Amino acid sequence: MPGGKIAFFTGILDALQLTDDEVATVMGHEIGHALLEHGRARMSEQLLKNIGISAAAVMLNLGDVSAAMLSQAANLAVSLPYARKQEADADLVGLELAARAGYDPRAAVAVWQKMSKYAQGAGRGQPPQFLSTHPSNQNRIKDIEANLPRVLPLYKKAS
Ligand SMILES: [Zn+2]
Repeated sequence: MPGGKIAFFTGILDALQLTDDEVATVMGHEIGHALLEHGRARMSEQLLKNIGISAAAVMLNLGDVSAAMLSQAANLAVSLPYARKQEADADLVGLELAARAGYDPRAAVAVWQKMSKYAQGAGRGQPPQFLSTHPSNQNRIKDIEANLPRVLPLYKKAS
């Protein structure tokens, strides 16, 4: 959030029965967003998008419905890939922070497997990746596994 504050809901602890290493994954990810100032980046992105949509609607003399459709199109074109990139970056920073703090970064894989299982078990399948602000859990796990060799030495040194 703007100002670097992080909100951590305890519900996730109960629902996913997270271990300390897994909590460090989630916390590291959120700290990653704060360090990378994603809250601020998102606010300016939103502002630019709104200005662009208003200008386009005025120039094309569009009514409210069309403006809403334009807004949706802009969201798909601008916000979502950007948000996915932010998620991947926050995952990487989070892995490193957790490892440096002495928490096993391999727990990140378990976190996303639990998220997948929880979503399926509750009948909430994931939306297709291109419509989601989050990379699909499978892609996310693949990225995390690919980066584990880079952070495991940090974990070994810290623990
Ligand atoms: Zn995130």
